[in-house]
Amino acid sequence: MSSEKKMRKLYVGTSWKMNKTVEESSDYIKNLSDFMNKNTELINGIEVFVIPTFLAIDSATRIVREKNSGLKIGAQDCCWEDFGPFTGEVSQMHLKDLGVSYVEIGHAERREIFMETDEMVAKKTAAIIKNNMKPILCIGEEEKPDDINIALNFLEYQLLEGLSRIDKTDIKNVVIAYEPVWAIGATASAPLDYLSKAMDFLRNMLNRKFGNNCGDSQDIIYGGSVTPESAKDILAIPGNDGIFVGRSALNVDYFINMIKMASEIRKLE
Ligand code: PEP
Repeated sequence: MSSEKKMRKLYVGTSWKMNKTVEESSDYIKNLSDFMNKNTELINGIEVFVIPTFLAIDSATRIVREKNSGLKIGAQDCCWEDFGPFTGEVSQMHLKDLGVSYVEIGHAERREIFMETDEMVAKKTAAIIKNNMKPILCIGEEEKPDDINIALNFLEYQLLEGLSRIDKTDIKNVVIAYEPVWAIGATASAPLDYLSKAMDFLRNMLNRKFGNNCGDSQDIIYGGSVTPESAKDILAIPGNDGIFVGRSALNVDYFINMIKMASEIRKLE
């Protein structure tokens, strides 16, 4: 596993949920892009992405293009249809048109508050792949069980449902975000050994189901109460390809610190 990991990139990403005005978002994207442009060596091999609100995407992608910083911009959701009578929804075709690279799908809040089902998640994942963007497919068990196997069985079911409408050859274009619901917005992230077991399980399960050792090279990242204090240990887990950060990345300096940590981890590998 470790020799393969050397070749892989590490992700450092954030989703802002329903936070930041367009102006605040633009300031952040400018600062982050300037940091990335001044530190090209440091960010080599690190995929940095920011997922602002829908309203801030247009200005964010314009700034990224202007600064040519390599920062990727994502969206927090999308409709599974390209266009039509879906009042209030956002088309992945329109996201693609704005220069979006990633679309987050199946976040715990969408599943819980907006009743998003596994079937809707699967349809959205397929639509994003069809439009040549990358889904960030969020999965995670709701409670931390005494026996981790209960969580692992659930993860297998939820992940396979999310992937059920795409071709096996497209699975490599999905970024899997393992986000245990009990660790989101919490006081601490999932324990490192728990996290490590879940990541290894997901990789082995993908190998078993889809062959070709595909699970070993699948992009799988972790989200759930990552902080500048915990980021480095989480990034150092061999089966983990990165961090997906909520609250702690709302401050650009904290986010930059976490990018620096990812760079240190890469140097150690
Ligand atoms: C999230 O909502 O996906 C998340 C990871 O948030 P936080 O980092 O604030 O727990």
